[in-house]
Amino acid sequence: PDLFAPERPNSKGFDLTHQPTLDLIDAARAPFAQHRWQAAPLLAGDAAPKAPRDLTNPADPADSPGSVAEASAADIETALAHAAPWDAPAEDRARVLNRAADLYEENFGEIFALLAREAGKIPLDTVAELREAVDFLRYYGANAPQDPPVGLFTCISPWNFPLAIFTGQIAAALAAGNAVLSKPAEQTPLIAHRAISLLHEAGVPKTALQLLPGAGDVGAALTSDPRIGGVAFTGSTETAQKIRATMAENLAPGAPLIAETGGLNAMIVDSTALPEQAVQAIVESAFQSAGQRCSALRCLYVQEDIATPFTEMLIGAMDALHIGQPWQISTDVGPVIDEEARAGIDAHIQTARAEGRLVYELKTPNAGTFIAPTLIKIGGIADLEREIFGPVLHIATFKSHQLDEVIGAINATGYGLTFGLMTRIDDRVQHVTEAVHAGNIYVNRNQIGAIVGSQPFGGEGLSGTGPKAGGPHYLTRFTARPAPEAPE
Ligand code: GLU
Repeated sequence: PDLFAPERPNSKGFDLTHQPTLDLIDAARAPFAQHRWQAAPLLAGDAAPKAPRDLTNPADPADSPGSVAEASAADIETALAHAAPWDAPAEDRARVLNRAADLYEENFGEIFALLAREAGKIPLDTVAELREAVDFLRYYGANAPQDPPVGLFTCISPWNFPLAIFTGQIAAALAAGNAVLSKPAEQTPLIAHRAISLLHEAGVPKTALQLLPGAGDVGAALTSDPRIGGVAFTGSTETAQKIRATMAENLAPGAPLIAETGGLNAMIVDSTALPEQAVQAIVESAFQSAGQRCSALRCLYVQEDIATPFTEMLIGAMDALHIGQPWQISTDVGPVIDEEARAGIDAHIQTARAEGRLVYELKTPNAGTFIAPTLIKIGGIADLEREIFGPVLHIATFKSHQLDEVIGAINATGYGLTFGLMTRIDDRVQHVTEAVHAGNIYVNRNQIGAIVGSQPFGGEGLSGTGPKAGGPHYLTRFTARPAPEAPE
């Protein structure tokens, strides 16, 4: 079989408007409604982890999806001592990664249940997440490089895509033949543990892939040991900067850091935009995944001439959103990841309320770490001091002659991840998309949900180091050959 054919199709996913599909999902996840998973280090030698700690369902404080025994210092040493690059031919690595993709799809019921109960993911998010994870496995597998690997890679992943980004980093490092030490976010070790088990079951050797659940101390140990050859990290810009400094001090010169970090993503809606289309794109971009995507829309600029009716229409659409339990098919917005996140976002909303800038806010359920979709008025993107990682949208207006000023302000944030433009003027599309500095620019559609293989995803400036995930140059950073200079 031609595993290297570039045109492997993306995962089909699930159609949530089709009742038989919903019934299938319900039946497959039902056995896991009360299940308690246990995560622990998965090492090529014996593990001696810390005492287990219970995890909490973000939507329901009374529900614990399981417990995690985090990696001890001895476990980290065991993992480092046993790690060995995956010296199978590229074709074999591809075959195993494809088998893992199949296993992910076969275990969809458990994955739906795990993502809902550990990460608060609604079914729509889980469909997208499972597809993306499967796509990464197949895409990187199909493009497995023949060049020699770097050696040993540390992969540190975030809780917001506990399956897709977690899998993407690992799949890339493995496709290139590296050994991987994987440190998942401390909020989502259960899904990580399950995913690594499936990768092992598919045939990835344990010496090539080990799991070390834990907090920042584990991450620090795994980015400062001179045996580490490179690091893939997705998370905050701040942590990425710390990792870069640690690596520079302790690792071999030129050790690659593939970092994918935050954003302050904007969208511009001018007076020629189709309002219904723009409103739908905005609601999806700002509130899907409860706004917990680094691609999510944070700052909306609406041309002043249409601002009043447009805002009313947007509020109408927000009003129709259903906040609730992630297990429910009808839920549009689930909880944010934990109490710390909830409190931080809520403090931001309270400040806006005190300053009279709160435009609209849905009602928040009582129990669980929920934040209701919220709209806040600001003068412009420069008013945002940091990324608010939740379902909070900021809205500003601009006059037609201020367009370049707005673009200047967006670029001046220093971030450059996603950007959206809603207009029917062709010249404006050309002008704005050339002037805005962002890794992923979307015109007349939402600005989330990049598709592996066709929309490589990644930012510039404070948003990441490139090359983009799910694109043709990404794997080169995981090999001992330098990345090409060519733009993507
Ligand atoms: N790739 C995702 C998207 O396009 C975002 C990844 C992230 O939030 O880190 O929506």
